[in-house]
Amino acid sequence: MLPLLTADDPSPVLSNGAHDHSPFVIVVDHASARIPLRLQSLGLTQDALARHIAWDIGALEIARRVAHTLDATLVAQMYSRLVIDCNRHPDADSSITQLSEYTPIPGNASITAQGAFARRQEIFDPYHAHILTLLDRRSELGLDTILVAQHTMTDVYKGVRRDMQAAILYNRDPIFARYVRDFLRRDTGLVIADNEPYFLSDATDYTIPIHAEARGLPSVEIEVRQDLVSTAEGQSEWAAHIARALVAATEALRSI
Ligand SMILES: [Zn+2]
Repeated sequence: MLPLLTADDPSPVLSNGAHDHSPFVIVVDHASARIPLRLQSLGLTQDALARHIAWDIGALEIARRVAHTLDATLVAQMYSRLVIDCNRHPDADSSITQLSEYTPIPGNASITAQGAFARRQEIFDPYHAHILTLLDRRSELGLDTILVAQHTMTDVYKGVRRDMQAAILYNRDPIFARYVRDFLRRDTGLVIADNEPYFLSDATDYTIPIHAEARGLPSVEIEVRQDLVSTAEGQSEWAAHIARALVAATEALRSI
């Protein structure tokens, strides 16, 4: 079988290298709307691929700015979640979705087991192997690590407008995430939702359960509403909010 990715497709993993002085490892599961060339845009128009269904608009730019400010490690996955969702278990039905919001995904409608396996092997596996190796190395060096999963969410989903400006998601280890939530609420005066409109779970997430909860690392999943971060100005503003909150939450965690 032909490989999925060709020499003209970029690596699925974007990394800024090791930043050992910072405890933060910032990951972006849905950083890009790119589709591997062989998949021919999955049969979608460029307009559809520009929408939130394909990627987390603004998330990579927020994460880059936060990583720069905090001298932190950044790892991002550079293909659309419509190819394979890197924040879902590959056995979940939603791993390679056939319908996103109201949009059918033609290139996923009749995918073969072989086709699904290639997406896992060439995109999902290298991304998570990169994070695993990075966290193993940090652990061997005795470095404290806090995993930050940066996402963004649409402002209108299935016709319903979302009132929260951002959301903090967590599951088994709420301590760090709640410090981030409380700081953001005080600092911004905005509506920072708690495990809404999504909550973090093994069925709906992969990155935090596997890389943070299973290792006992403090973590937080952050969602920012996309209409607030579609410009460089909004991205910088939210990156500053998030960087301050991460530092304050770390100080609170260390003072327990
Ligand atoms: Zn996301």
